[in-house]
Amino acid sequence: MSKYIIYLILLVSQVLFAETIVESKSAIELIENPSAQIVDNTTNTNILEIDTNTNILNIVEKIEEDESSVEDGEFSVSNIFRVLLLSYPHIVKPVPQSENPYYPDQAINVRGITFYNVNGRFLPEEERKNWKKYNSNTIYTYPREIPDPAIRTKSEISLMKKQSAKSYRRRKKPTYYGFHQALYGMSSLSDTNTQIMKARLFGKQILIHQFAHDSLKQVEKEVYALTNDDKYKVEVKKFLKEGNTVYSFFWRTIAGSKSRSLHSYGVAVDVLEENSKKAMYWLWRQNQKIDWIKEPISVRWNPPNSVVQVFEKYGFVWGGKWNFYDTMHFEYKPEILILNGYDVIFLNQEAIPVVIENPTNQTEVQN
Ligand SMILES: [Zn+2]
Repeated sequence: MSKYIIYLILLVSQVLFAETIVESKSAIELIENPSAQIVDNTTNTNILEIDTNTNILNIVEKIEEDESSVEDGEFSVSNIFRVLLLSYPHIVKPVPQSENPYYPDQAINVRGITFYNVNGRFLPEEERKNWKKYNSNTIYTYPREIPDPAIRTKSEISLMKKQSAKSYRRRKKPTYYGFHQALYGMSSLSDTNTQIMKARLFGKQILIHQFAHDSLKQVEKEVYALTNDDKYKVEVKKFLKEGNTVYSFFWRTIAGSKSRSLHSYGVAVDVLEENSKKAMYWLWRQNQKIDWIKEPISVRWNPPNSVVQVFEKYGFVWGGKWNFYDTMHFEYKPEILILNGYDVIFLNQEAIPVVIENPTNQTEVQN
């Protein structure tokens, strides 16, 4: 596969995962609104069975390269499926060849639904024939360092220009949304109470998917611990002071695009400096008519690397490493980190989602 194709796929996936600014309501607004479809008094048993502190580095080392099955993307579908099985063992199950009528198309079972790999799209049986409607589910390269705009080639710049255009983004095919809906167990707002939990991050109340709850709690603990570390305390205290606004779960309706932000599933959090003059999100910069593709990294508001590394250690990808950067954004996507050779620690997810009662406005709660 040519470098150009890989780069193209990389950019496409990044646009897809980047924020789409559409009509959105916070869960809090929706919960306070009587018309919101939140089910009261729902209790749920904990179905999660992950071992405490499972460090899967050893398992990942056993993953073999297999490029034969993939049309698009950096990573083979068989490796993506393996990593999904590792990352969500309570949700994702293998499908034996004997139960796969479409073999050699690979298949994976997510909450009882079988998804087949059709040219890099993960689709249920009824959508197989429609595969061309969808973008590939394959996983992008996630680098160790922030991509440096200073070393972009002319062709990379022109490709990014093309992909950042409004018309391009509007036309762009979505990935099949049913895969994420199955993975996160949320196909509508009424599923919120089965998956979304209250939590706190850096002194603010947030709503987070149960997958990410314990990991985020540990992230907070370790970031706070850095404030006692002589090597990091200055930068981390500065980050905690500046990053005074935290957003998490937003159920976004889709306008002009079928791509859905991972905030809709409660697996993403934004930590940002309100009213910052610095660059945090490429699209805001573009809307200000700034030639953001060429701007140096120094114009951005970035959390310190020590903080980013803590998030990554517990399975959160940081949007600041995307070419289409979003420096406030962290999302729980251990599969991306693992495929890119990061060592991810999974925590025992003992937390059980609870009914959210009278939530305080998440931006106003102080520690
Ligand atoms: Zn975000």
